[in-house]
Amino acid sequence: MPSPRVEISSVAVSPDHFIGGKRVPSDRTFESRSPLDWDWKLADIARGDALTADAAVVAAVSAFPDWAARSPQDRGAVLHRLADLIDDNIADLAMVECVDMGMLLESLEKRGIHRGAENFRNYADLAGKYEGRSWSSKGTDNRVQRMPAGPAVIITPWNAPWILSTWKVAPALAAGNTVILKPAEWSPLSASLLADLTAEAGVPPGVFNVVQGIGEEVGAALVGDRRVRRISLTGSPETARHIGVAAARNIVPFTAELGGKGPFLVFADADLDAAARKAAGQYDDAGQVCLAGTRLLVEEGVAAEFIELFGVYTDKQVLGDSRSPSTTVAPLIHPDHLRRVEGFVERAREAGDRVVRGGERWKEDGLWYLPTLVEPRSNHSEIVQREVFGPVLTFQTFRDEREAVELANSTEYGLSAIVYTGSEERALRVGSAIRAGTVWVNTFLVRDLTAPFGGCRISGIGREGGDYALDFHSDLKTLQILQETTA
Ligand code: NAD
Repeated sequence: MPSPRVEISSVAVSPDHFIGGKRVPSDRTFESRSPLDWDWKLADIARGDALTADAAVVAAVSAFPDWAARSPQDRGAVLHRLADLIDDNIADLAMVECVDMGMLLESLEKRGIHRGAENFRNYADLAGKYEGRSWSSKGTDNRVQRMPAGPAVIITPWNAPWILSTWKVAPALAAGNTVILKPAEWSPLSASLLADLTAEAGVPPGVFNVVQGIGEEVGAALVGDRRVRRISLTGSPETARHIGVAAARNIVPFTAELGGKGPFLVFADADLDAAARKAAGQYDDAGQVCLAGTRLLVEEGVAAEFIELFGVYTDKQVLGDSRSPSTTVAPLIHPDHLRRVEGFVERAREAGDRVVRGGERWKEDGLWYLPTLVEPRSNHSEIVQREVFGPVLTFQTFRDEREAVELANSTEYGLSAIVYTGSEERALRVGSAIRAGTVWVNTFLVRDLTAPFGGCRISGIGREGGDYALDFHSDLKTLQILQETTA
């Protein structure tokens, strides 16, 4: 018997798994609470185990042949219906995501939820356009084809769960794979709503499944299952190491989008006001953004002016309830995460780094942490070298371009970077010298969905986006035919 739906700000959400087109409860549950008010219990969510994982894999395996046999255009038509349904339900999806994860409601309503619809539209069209390379050599015709790979397990993190899960689910379904999505235990609700919409759009039972639960429990069971043919993670490097072992054991292709510690470079020839505004804007979802340029690196001659402007924009930030349009800084997601962020700043203080702004909770109750700026004593400081994933930026200066690039490349991460400069030549030189999957120049977070996306070093393995994700979710085949046969 499915569990009753739970009313969350007037939206009915199922706390169960979604397997083979049906709602499936678990005997055990875990609590989901709202970061907007930690006393607000949202739901008791099904806590999957090895049996749940098995049931989901069985459903995904049995639905695979029919879904894979459909043409990309036919699958695309279903995904277009799903995209339209998402756009029809923006208000409900935005509210649930806001209450569950704490993200700013207005930005979800205006951009974030629609971006999920765009993910499905983009992949519905792209998969249908694929023609494959073909050429002649050695008296044969060579034709490259994509074959759907099989059931894919998709594991997502708690920050931006809607955007990140649709970003990963869309190419998997468009490529002809069946999917088991395991959302993070701190923000499980929008995945449940996505399951409802897939059913309404006509995605056949078993093609898209959602399994709720704890990473080390049901997540580990899913990624360890030999019937799974693709694993795609967005999360931390620590989790990637575990999943990578399981993927290696079963010889399954694995892609991982992981943490970041992006540099935010500001050169003296830059529009300092624009740079300062963008830098301070990074506090908005409480800095819980993997792509953020958390290390402000500013050319010496303009450092004082930049910091003054940065202060002006930071002072304009409004902490508060994410449902209010006037709020610009959201709470952190969970008390454990708040303590983790606090721990970083406390250790920085103790080690001799200078906390020049913030560095404490906004108020006794609630999960807000003040926008914080730390001037480290050295580039080796923990706060410079490790991802904090909160509203904490560091500030350092550089003398010249060479030192700027050296500092930019001086962490183990390589997800993204931001460069502010007024010179096109410098933009190309510095942009090319930075080791990162994405470098933005004079802008931030603008993304073309067909561009490759991912990280270098401990920020990830593989690339998603556009054809890169469709290739990942396919087995490429070369069909080589003797030309006499085709004449
Ligand atoms: P996490 O690694 O703790 O968890 C991610 C997911 O993995 C969760 O669903 C979790 O339940 C699951 N998981 C944990 N252990 C597992 C295991 N042994 N087997 C299978 N699944 C397991 O990450 P998080 O704390 O949820 O998210 C924050 C991290 O994600 C940060 O490092 C952030 O930078 C990163 N992130 C990266 C991107 C990107 O695009 N590169 C985007 C968003 C977040």
